[in-house]
Amino acid sequence: MAVQTVAGNTTSSAPAVDLGPAAALSCRECGERFELGPLFACASCFGPLEVAYDLPTGSPEELRKRIEAGPDNIWRYAPLLPVPADVAEKPNINPGFTKLVKADNLARELGVTGGLYVKDDSGNPTHSFKDRVVAIAVEAARAFGFTTLSCSSTGNLAGAVGAAAARAGLRSCVFIPHDLEQGKVVMAAVYGGELVAIEGSYDDVNRFCSELIGDPLGEGWGFVNVNLRPYYGEGSKTLAYEICEQLGWRLPDQIVIPIASGSQLTKIDKGFQELIKLGLVEDRPYKIFGAQAEGCSPVSAAFKAGHDVVRPQKPNTIAKSLAIGNPADGPYVLDIARRTGGAVEDVTDEQVVDAIKLLARTEGIFGETAGGVTLGVTKKLIEAGVIDPALTTVVLNTGDGLKTLDAVSATSQATATIKPSLDAFRAAGLVAN
Ligand SMILES: *Cc1c(COP(=O)(O)O)cnc(C)c1O
Repeated sequence: MAVQTVAGNTTSSAPAVDLGPAAALSCRECGERFELGPLFACASCFGPLEVAYDLPTGSPEELRKRIEAGPDNIWRYAPLLPVPADVAEKPNINPGFTKLVKADNLARELGVTGGLYVKDDSGNPTHSFKDRVVAIAVEAARAFGFTTLSCSSTGNLAGAVGAAAARAGLRSCVFIPHDLEQGKVVMAAVYGGELVAIEGSYDDVNRFCSELIGDPLGEGWGFVNVNLRPYYGEGSKTLAYEICEQLGWRLPDQIVIPIASGSQLTKIDKGFQELIKLGLVEDRPYKIFGAQAEGCSPVSAAFKAGHDVVRPQKPNTIAKSLAIGNPADGPYVLDIARRTGGAVEDVTDEQVVDAIKLLARTEGIFGETAGGVTLGVTKKLIEAGVIDPALTTVVLNTGDGLKTLDAVSATSQATATIKPSLDAFRAAGLVAN
């Protein structure tokens, strides 16, 4: 298959790699196309690159059937992803098809009447949504012949890369800020790869990784969220696919998504658009809402100020998985929130903790701080009349509360500590009747 540039020049006569329906990389800014490879910035305008596809051409009914007959993980959507057709047979962590929980207790508490759902990605192999993006990046790394898998991480990504590399038989070496939660550090180290803690913020870690890529020290390394970023990002589309399929091939009216770099939010929108284009869902309006913690709210601040550019911040919040002060996809998030009629909002750390406990108390789901941010923002926007309680609303829980125990440990302890006797129990005053 020949790859065409926008000018119509053939830049290659045969693809070097097989990534299924992925046809080329294209620049989000100027549209210039490039051969599939470990590239992330446009050679002409430095804009970010994304994967362009030869999408399936059959009837929507056929495609729907083919997807529904596929495995219970993200590979059921292989015809829409940059992965080889036989991906399900390769050693990979096989994330996805997590539960979409109809959250009726929570809905009652928040006054939502149009249907409230929690998409619970804590059920992925390393307990966060990051397994989706890493699973795709592994296939790209394999296709490009990388032998070491790496990343700059706010915590969850490091664990996902460690696990996926172990399973795929690749070496891993991941980089994190030095002050992460114990649960994230242990999850990043336990899979046996190398874990390097950097004395600095995530933005420092990310800058360091960009330098490493340009240096002979980093040769042969696939950084899932840097030089493999266009492929990595596509993993987030599977959240859009799954939510629509689980709603009966229907778009939600409203969806609330946490923002770190903003990649997940922009790719969920891309996923919805593809489903519309393929005729898999009815083309109707949906609103996308972005959620940040007040202590790291560069996108929310720009949204509220009506700006198109995002001014970097120095993060200070318990929501460490979202603590990116200079989010790469910030401007695209602003575009999407405004285009769909959504919004970007933030909540305090105290509201994050309250929301973690609200979700646990009403639905039996223990989310991490990012989940608290997302539900906290949902609650705030419902109360402000921005999110319509009469419409179908999906809230993402992107990670597991067991990795951020510190957030709630002070207020979640034994109700009473007693001697093993009925008298002691009676004296504790816990007997209901
Ligand atoms: C990384 C992460 C996100 C968001 O990531 P983006 O960089 O915006 O794609 C959300 N929740 C959790 C738990 C994460 O680890």
